[in-house]
Amino acid sequence: MLKRAQEKGLAILEAVDLRSWAVDTHRTTADAPYGGGPGMVMKIEPIARALGTLRGEGTRVLLMTPQGRRFNQRMAETYSRESHLILICGHYEGVDQRVADHLVDDEVSIGDYVLTNGALAALVFTDAVVRLIPGVLGDAASAAQDSFSTGLLDHPHYTRPENFNGWRVPEVLLSGNHAAIEAWRRKRALELTRQRRPDLI
Ligand code: SAH
Repeated sequence: MLKRAQEKGLAILEAVDLRSWAVDTHRTTADAPYGGGPGMVMKIEPIARALGTLRGEGTRVLLMTPQGRRFNQRMAETYSRESHLILICGHYEGVDQRVADHLVDDEVSIGDYVLTNGALAALVFTDAVVRLIPGVLGDAASAAQDSFSTGLLDHPHYTRPENFNGWRVPEVLLSGNHAAIEAWRRKRALELTRQRRPDLI
């Protein structure tokens, strides 16, 4: 889908190497932490320099970090309407705090767990955001009925065969009665949400 979005000219995705903005001979992008302790911390200068080049009018700069705002469908919808996003991916122990304090517009976490680097988080974010850009998905309706878009979990889906191992597709879906099908889907979505994610109701 991301490839198709780019081919259709609906999104431009670019990965840039922070090392291109490192000035020392070793092209350093990380250094030991002040105060001691394990690991390395991403330096602010290459990031600031990169932003200086890449930032334009209307650019929003996001830092991927487990300490950020927890990413959800509503945030994906909001960001899908932005014209230019820069996602900063950390490594090692993370990024010099002054980046978050002075250079970014938002800090985003994709969930309560820790990855080794921000690239995977940025890809998850990008996939969720780009699929919401009008024209990216084949059927625009398909995103609108997905889990969370409606405020509920999605209803179950079935396809051929009608009977597998005696496990049958619910009769109503074969009825051709669109009102009854709609009602059944709505009911199942509600039941599922109540069971699994009562917090959404
Ligand atoms: N020491 C940090 C974790 C650093 S993990 C802490 O405990 O908060 C290294 C990098 O991976 C981070 O800088 C961030 O860019 C990325 N990362 C890890 N987990 C992430 C998550 N849940 N969401 C977004 N980015 C994450």
